[in-house]
Formats: sequence, structure tokens, C-alpha cells
Amino acid sequence: MEFFKPATWSEALAIKAEHPDATPIAGGTDIMVELNFDVRRPGALLDLTEIAELREWSAVGDGFRVGSGVSYARIIEELGASLPGLAMAARTVGSPQIRNRGTVGGNLGAASPAGDSHPPLLAAAAEIEVASVRGTRRIPAAEFYKGVKRNAMEPDELIAAFHIAAADGPQQFAKIGTRNAMVIAVCSFGLALHPSTRTVGTGVGSAAPTPRRALDAETFIAAELEWDSPGPLRDSVLVRFGELVAQAASPIDDVRGTADYRRHALSVMARRTLGWAWDSYRRN
Ligand SMILES: Cc1cc2nc3c(=O)[nH]c(=O)nc-3n(C[C@H](O)[C@H](O)[C@H](O)COP(=O)(O)OP(=O)(O)OC[C@H]3O[C@@H](n4cnc5c(N)ncnc54)[C@H](O)[C@@H]3O)c2cc1C
Repeated sequence: MEFFKPATWSEALAIKAEHPDATPIAGGTDIMVELNFDVRRPGALLDLTEIAELREWSAVGDGFRVGSGVSYARIIEELGASLPGLAMAARTVGSPQIRNRGTVGGNLGAASPAGDSHPPLLAAAAEIEVASVRGTRRIPAAEFYKGVKRNAMEPDELIAAFHIAAADGPQQFAKIGTRNAMVIAVCSFGLALHPSTRTVGTGVGSAAPTPRRALDAETFIAAELEWDSPGPLRDSVLVRFGELVAQAASPIDDVRGTADYRRHALSVMARRTLGWAWDSYRRN
């Protein structure tokens, strides 16, 4: 197996252009498992860990450009106050060791429907910045996930960063697993209230071939919320929101849970997270 360890971003892009089948490795928390279990044997590995700029983030406009190599631990520590939904999701990833090594870039590269960063990225309408020697483009999160473990990248592209607005209202994330930690989501849900635009963002995880938004639920609840004089939410509104979120999913039965259970769990998580987020909005 060939092993490339570029020191600069331009060198990495040049290697990827010349060797499109070279597999990038960031934290290695997905890739090393696959190599150890012989799930794949790439002809070449492209180690991105020497490229300092991938580990940087910066404030841009009303949000952030976060390098693909920023770890979950740093997202929690350094960006948690501005990106609460993503930080909540990051706190549920693996163990401290995994959060120290694992990156959102790697989660996007793997594009597993169960990846925990996807629901908050969808709810916040984040964009993924990908690059190649041909140039740079930004892909909305809702267009990035193309199928089970497939994303919208071309073979010569690498993930440089993601762009995400600072929270303009309460955000929530909930995940169901068979235990509290070190668990792949049976299903998960991300929610972002956007009082500035009177809209609500959602992200459904592990309940369809790709992470996806619950568009009908978003439209329904944005029209129901009384943003200017926020009172308690009626139970019927919470229940309907939960139903619409569950309807957006197309889950399967698998070792982690049945499709019926996933739909039910999603409706409960949607109701609860909306209740928590709305209470927080009313208090502030
Ligand atoms: C014990 C354990 C627990 C885990 N728990 C969770 C969990 O709770 N939630 C969860 O979501 N995940 C979990 N994971 C999976 C993994 O930690 C995450 O998917 C993590 O985000 C991967 O990041 P990484 O930097 O380690 O990626 P890597 O393993 O380095 O790469 C993952 C994929 O992304 C590609 N890639 C990496 N960087 C780039 C780039 N810049 N451009 C293009 N492609 C790139 C790689 O080629 C590979 O296909 C767990 C893994 C382990 C081993």
C-alpha cells in the first residue's frame, strides 16, 4: 500500500488529482476500523494530518468556516457556545478518545446515515466546502448525502471545511441508542429554531438511506410558532410535528432497531426537542 503524507493543502490536492483512488485519512477512527477488519484494502492512503489549515476554524460573517480536521473535542470546547446543536451531537460521539481524534470532515467523508454530525449540519443549513486542483465549491448539506455511505464528492476532491451560521436561536439534538455512550444511533434528530427568519431547521439521522430534512414538519411548525408572543405549545401541535418528522423518514429493520421503532422514536424525539427549544426561546 502506498502512503502519502503531504505537508500542504496544495500538495494534498495534487496527490488526489494524480491518485483519485487514494483514501484520505484524518482522525482514522473510521478508516482504521475498516483496515483492521479487512473491510477495505485501499491501494493508497492520503494522510491529511500534517496539514495545519485543516485544523483551523475562523469566524466569517455571521458564522464560521470550520476546517475538516477540527476534532469533536475542539468543536465542543471552542465552538460549543455558538454551535450548540453540533456540540450536543459531538458530545454523543464515541468516547473521549474518539472525540479527540474524530472529525466532522471524517463523518462527512464516511457519509454514514448514522453519523451524528449530519442532523445538526442539516438543521443549521450548513455547507460543505470541497476542493480539487480544478477549484473549490460549496455544497449545501441537504445535497451532500447521496446514498448509504455515498456523498456528492468527485474522486479528485477533498473536504476542506464546512460553513455554518452561528445559532440565532435555540438548537437541540437527540439520539437513541442501546446505551448512553459509545453507541451508533438507532436514530437521531437535530432541530434549530431560527427566530431571525421565523423558520425551523431539522435533520433526521439513521432513519433513511441518507440523513435528511423533514421538510413538511419544518413548514408546519414555522407557521404554528408565535414568534412575537411566544406562549406554551399546544400538545396537538407537538404531536403533529412529531408525526410529520416520522413521516419524513424511510427507515429499515436492522440489527439496531425496527423501522416501526425508529418512526416512533423519531416522533418522540421531535416532540421533546421542539418542546425544549421552544421553552428556551420563551425564557430568553
Ligand atoms: C469506537 C468508535 C465509536 C464511534 N462512535 C461514533 C458515534 O457515536 N457517532 C458517529 O457519528 N461516529 C462514530 N464513530 C465513527 C467515527 O468516529 C466518525 O465517523 C468520525 O467522524 C470519523 O472521523 P475521522 O476524522 O476519524 O475520519 P477517518 O476515519 O479519518 O475518515 C473517515 C472517512 O472520511 C474520509 N475523509 C476523511 N477526511 C477527509 C477529507 N478531508 N476529505 C475527504 N474525505 C475525507 C476518509 O477517506 C474515510 O472514508 C465511532 C468510531 C469508533 C471507532
